[in-house]
Amino acid sequence: MPDFPQTQKTRIHRLPKRGHYDRETIYQIIDEALICHVGFVENGQPFVIPTNFARVEDTIILHGAPASRMLKHIAAGNPVCIETTIVDGLVLARSVFHHSVNYRSVVLFGTGRLLEDDQEKMAALKAVVEHLIPGRWSEARLPNPKELDATLVVSIKIDEASAKLRTGLPGDDEEDYALPLWAGVLPLQILPQAPIRDERLPAETPVPAYVASYKR
Ligand SMILES: Cc1cc2nc3c(=O)[nH]c(=O)nc-3n(C[C@H](O)[C@H](O)[C@H](O)COP(=O)(O)OP(=O)(O)OC[C@H]3O[C@@H](n4cnc5c(N)ncnc54)[C@H](O)[C@@H]3O)c2cc1C
Repeated sequence: MPDFPQTQKTRIHRLPKRGHYDRETIYQIIDEALICHVGFVENGQPFVIPTNFARVEDTIILHGAPASRMLKHIAAGNPVCIETTIVDGLVLARSVFHHSVNYRSVVLFGTGRLLEDDQEKMAALKAVVEHLIPGRWSEARLPNPKELDATLVVSIKIDEASAKLRTGLPGDDEEDYALPLWAGVLPLQILPQAPIRDERLPAETPVPAYVASYKR
């Protein structure tokens, strides 16, 4: 898999050593992240919209109501910028100045197209569901023709992308290491809690393995 090129748009200026342009790093972050934010400009006004997504090969799939401003904008062939971030920890330095966050983030650019073929739409919707919770698609009732018609699905080819990663401990100024306060990293993670049964679920319905053992 060839790296993404560093372009005028994707070159990281601040702390460029934290930047990565290889597909493996970028796709691992995209696949682990739960949601993304889609940025676009309409009549000079920027919008940033949080949404579910999935990656299929070199594309990002988004779906939603046909009335969605974001989806209509993408379906019309306009460019977008999408970001997604995994927060791995809070970095507590001795000085306020050196506090930070451990993270893995991706910024990507592309232009979308509307998916019109029903089979292609179904495959894309499967990817979105499986991105959130692998195993669910094969169990849930699948979209019927009316529901499929009422769902707008777009595919965005990833033209340019960058990742930025911060790991490790705080970096304090030498004279601050003598200060008598705690410093280090507070790791953070998405951890599922005990599943909550729907109140209309028959009592004998077991929790599926893909729910009981869910992790990101
Ligand atoms: C959780 C989190 C918290 C952060 N907090 C701060 C903060 O408080 N203050 C701050 O200044 N910065 C913060 N950053 C870093 C911020 O995202 C930018 O990297 C930073 O503003 C420097 O951007 P720049 O001027 O080098 O690049 P820009 O000129 O802004 O961007 C140029 C290109 O670099 C790439 N790029 C820039 N940042 C990222 C990124 N994070 N991930 C992937 N690609 C990227 C994109 O392709 C972008 O188009 C944070 C990042 C994360 C993930």
